[in-house]
Amino acid sequence: MKLIRFGAPGAEKPGLILDDGTRIDASAFGEDYDERFFAADGLQRLQAWAERHAASAPSVPENTRLGPPICRPSKLICIGLNYRKHAEESKMTIPNEPVIFFKATSSICGPNDDLVLPRGGDKTDWEVELAVVVGKRANYVSRERAMAHVAGFMLHNDYSERAFQLERGGQWVKGKSCDTFAPLGPFLATKDEIADPHDLRLWLKVNGELKQDGRTSDFIFDVPEVVSYVSQFMSLLPGDVISTGTPAGVGFGQQPPVYLKPGDVVELGIDGLGESRQVVKGSR
Ligand code: ZN
Repeated sequence: MKLIRFGAPGAEKPGLILDDGTRIDASAFGEDYDERFFAADGLQRLQAWAERHAASAPSVPENTRLGPPICRPSKLICIGLNYRKHAEESKMTIPNEPVIFFKATSSICGPNDDLVLPRGGDKTDWEVELAVVVGKRANYVSRERAMAHVAGFMLHNDYSERAFQLERGGQWVKGKSCDTFAPLGPFLATKDEIADPHDLRLWLKVNGELKQDGRTSDFIFDVPEVVSYVSQFMSLLPGDVISTGTPAGVGFGQQPPVYLKPGDVVELGIDGLGESRQVVKGSR
C-alpha cells in the first residue's frame, strides 16, 4: 500500500494511492496514521478496509496539498555519514559504528511545501535520503529480527544549515531542526512494495541540475543494521522515522561549496518512493 495524508497543514486527512494511481480519501477508515495506528496493526486493518471500500471512497482532488505521509512521530532519527563518498566529501572519517543524531519533529512538512531558509543561516544544504518507518516497538532487536519492526519507506530531504551544524559548536541537531527542514513523502510505501531497499537509486536536482545520484547498495550500514543499532540505545516506537543518510553531492562538498538561495527549486526522488519538489523561500 501507499499511504498519503492530504489537506491544509495541521489538518491533514489520511488517504491512499491505489495500484492504478488513483488517490482516495481514507477518512472513513476512521484513524490517522499515528503511533496508535501502527501499534494496533493499522496497516493490516487499513488493507482490509481498502479491499471493501476503496472503490467507493471519494477521490482526492488534483491540486490538493500533500502533507507528510504519517502523523508527527515521537522521534526523527538520522544516520550520519552512511555513504563512503559522502563521508569523504565531508572530510570526515568513515565511522566504525553508525553516527546517530536527531532532527526536531517540528521540522517535518509536506513533500512539496516550500523550504524556508532559517534566520541567521546562509549555508542551507540538501540531502536526499531513504527514510525507514518503524511499524512495531523495537528495543534491543537483533539484526536478524530488525526488518520485522519496519512498516515501510519514504523519501526524505534532510535539509541542513551547515553554519549552525558545523560552525556554531555543540551537536548537529541545531543545523537539522529548523521548520520545513524535513519534507517527507509523497507517500509511505509499505515494506512489501519495495522488493529490495538496498538496491534503490536516489537522486536530487537543484534548478534542474543533477547534484546527487547514488544507490542504497552503497550504504556502509544497511537498514537492518541501523534499526538494530538504534534500538540498543532507545526504544523505537511505532511510527518513528529513521533516515539512513545521504550519498555524495551535497552543496557543502562542492568546490567551492554551493548553498540554497531564495527562488531555487529542489527536486528529488527514490525508485519506488516517488518524487518531491521544494521551492526555496527567504527567512521570515
Ligand atoms: Zn542526513
